[in-house]
Amino acid sequence: MNNLRDEGEIKFRLTLKRAPAPEQNQVIAIEKWRALFYRLSLVGEYPTEKIGYGNLSYRLHRNTFVITGSQTGHLPHLQTHHYTKVIECDLKRGSVTAEGLIPPSSESLTHYGIYLANPSIQCIFHVHHQSLRQMLKNRKIDSINEDVAYGSQDMANAVANLLDKKNSGIFLIKGQEDGIISFGMTVEDTGKNILDIYRQLAVRQ
Ligand SMILES: [Zn+2]
Repeated sequence: MNNLRDEGEIKFRLTLKRAPAPEQNQVIAIEKWRALFYRLSLVGEYPTEKIGYGNLSYRLHRNTFVITGSQTGHLPHLQTHHYTKVIECDLKRGSVTAEGLIPPSSESLTHYGIYLANPSIQCIFHVHHQSLRQMLKNRKIDSINEDVAYGSQDMANAVANLLDKKNSGIFLIKGQEDGIISFGMTVEDTGKNILDIYRQLAVRQ
């Protein structure tokens, strides 16, 4: 099975508690970036497989966060009900508890592992882009192994090593062929990390 196309599928045990959608003010800042990323095809849907890619999240308090819902990649704009609140995760058991109207992104545990690794990180954007990814790979940007991706205690440890004293930046998950992860202390920083490299790519082409 191709890892790249594999990611729409939820691999954790999900408990979805029916609850109102997140508040507008909890998602508006990341939605602004998502709309831009959609236009740049950093978020979207693989046309043949009809599988969405790209997910964005924002920490609310402690280790709870709002995240884009599963299978929303094809939508140019998201409403609040397309976002879900992740309220509890267990990496050992591979379980996620969320509140909202739709299942959270299939990569929720990866986001959780990053928030857990560094309390200063407030925001995580995970995008896909083949040539951007290639450019970063050539630059030997930090990466973690595919076998620890998708949320696990091993992933959390790998991420913790990577993010030690690092509050903003970019890394790759090996094996997720197009995947790029940006993290930051503000939504703006997190978005700009990606936009900066995207501009560099545009200049090269
Ligand atoms: Zn991905």
